[in-house]
Amino acid sequence: MRLANRVAATKASGIRKIFDLAADLKNPVNLSIGEPDFAVPSPVRDAACEAIRAGRSGYTPTQGNREFRRALLESMNGKYSDSQVLVTSAVSGALTLAYLSLLEQGDEILVPDPYFVSYKQLAHVVGATPVFYDTYPKWKADPAGIEKLITPRTRAFILGSPANPTGAVYTREELAAIAAVLKKHDIVALSDEIYSAFCYGCEFVSFGEVYENTLVMDGFSKSHAMTGWRLGYAAGPEELIEAMTKFQQFTFVCAPAPVQAAGIVALRTDVSEQIAVYAKKRDLIYSGLIAAGYEVEKPDGAFYILPKVPRGTDVEFVGECVKNNLLVIPGSVFSEKATHFRIAYTAPEEKIREGLEILRRLR
Ligand code: PLP
Repeated sequence: MRLANRVAATKASGIRKIFDLAADLKNPVNLSIGEPDFAVPSPVRDAACEAIRAGRSGYTPTQGNREFRRALLESMNGKYSDSQVLVTSAVSGALTLAYLSLLEQGDEILVPDPYFVSYKQLAHVVGATPVFYDTYPKWKADPAGIEKLITPRTRAFILGSPANPTGAVYTREELAAIAAVLKKHDIVALSDEIYSAFCYGCEFVSFGEVYENTLVMDGFSKSHAMTGWRLGYAAGPEELIEAMTKFQQFTFVCAPAPVQAAGIVALRTDVSEQIAVYAKKRDLIYSGLIAAGYEVEKPDGAFYILPKVPRGTDVEFVGECVKNNLLVIPGSVFSEKATHFRIAYTAPEEKIREGLEILRRLR
């Protein structure tokens, strides 16, 4: 079969290779999974069941269920108007539509290194080039460094805060300094805010608050543990939302109707207890890694931590971990460098302790 060139250009996620390696392990300590380990809050589950029973199973408008959209606009404190919001098939849907709408063959998008895998691979899907801005070793971008990478082909900039895989959370001042560079060169920002609920003792600031020309993307996969429900949204410049809506019409069509109905309830459902549990897990994993002698930056958000490997390459070290029944991910899955490994602390406390004990022995 003759496949399109974009197939070869796009690499399959390296995470899957770890799952293949792990297939033979019995009851491994699994600190590799980027999904919350708490249940979807029961009022949200009830709302979805009720919507299904009530027969709310048809297509919704392409932009999304009207009532849900209204609730979303309210939750964003009236910053956006109705024509500036689009309900999407989770943040992955929003990212896909944004890349399709903004990037031509040969265009460049500024992508953080380390990155969430899709930021890089979606560029290849649309024939664009990801240009990496370095955030090593403290996981923060340097605005002057970003400016040096801007060329006449630069069309967009993407940032996640709180970030996967680093857990970094940008302050208002840090975002404003980046925004000043983007504004000078009139570059649109894509802001992935999927971990906005997961900030530990720090303020979450949306890039949309400091820079007008920003597409904000958020969703319910992480905050409400709804990874398989596929619900998210994008908000930002009307022209871009209109373009994305056009592509949604011919691709995703709409996010699942009963899930959109449940989204109204999700917006009203407090998850602060679940977040408090994750703050404790963050403390446990960070202090455990420091005590074991790992070189690691303290993450302020999300549910990942990215320590430096103690020796060799990331793949070699993760191989040792797997042999010792611990699943973590090589940093090079999320980076052009091979020096770190990602731990997702979305596991019960006793599993995190077991994982730390294995890491202490391997140090
Ligand atoms: N963005 C980031 C930074 C993520 O870590 C993920 C999932 O791991 C996504 C987006 C995709 O999330 P979803 O499509 O479930 O909303």
